[in-house]
Amino acid sequence: MSEVAFAENDRAVFSCSKCSKSKITDVSKYILSDSEVKLKYKCACGNTNKVILERRRNNRQSTSFTGVYTIYDKNSEASKGLITICNISLTGLRFKVEGRPNLSLYSKIRIEFKLNGKQRISKKGIIKNSMGNYYGIEFCEKDKFDKTIKYFITSKKGITAFTHRILM
Ligand SMILES: [Zn+2]
Repeated sequence: MSEVAFAENDRAVFSCSKCSKSKITDVSKYILSDSEVKLKYKCACGNTNKVILERRRNNRQSTSFTGVYTIYDKNSEASKGLITICNISLTGLRFKVEGRPNLSLYSKIRIEFKLNGKQRISKKGIIKNSMGNYYGIEFCEKDKFDKTIKYFITSKKGITAFTHRILM
């Protein structure tokens, strides 16, 4: 038997595979773990359940920081401009450009901004999607899972939507 459930914030709802009784568990310490999380818990009925926590791959945090982009791709026209960072995740971000920029998909781009107006962040990435003046970029491998950004995301609320399933 396999079950799927939803949880809000840093809590997941587990339901026993034998008696269906549910249990709310604080799973905040696992939220940004990079590896698969397997948990075991014992229900009041005595049944031991095995659970895999399924987390959203990219927990995004909404922002409105001002920043600068620089296109440094050999195949694209070099350009630079002001942007607003709309949201940030551990693997990428989304920004808005004013005016009519000439940005192409898959261009290499550098984004610089100050996190909370303090810590200077500089990230390289690739433009993965666009809609109107909005662009989504994925950080290059070495710029993913930045500790400063991780701290920024975890210190905010509203990022943790969990699902889980009971192991067969
Ligand atoms: Zn039970």
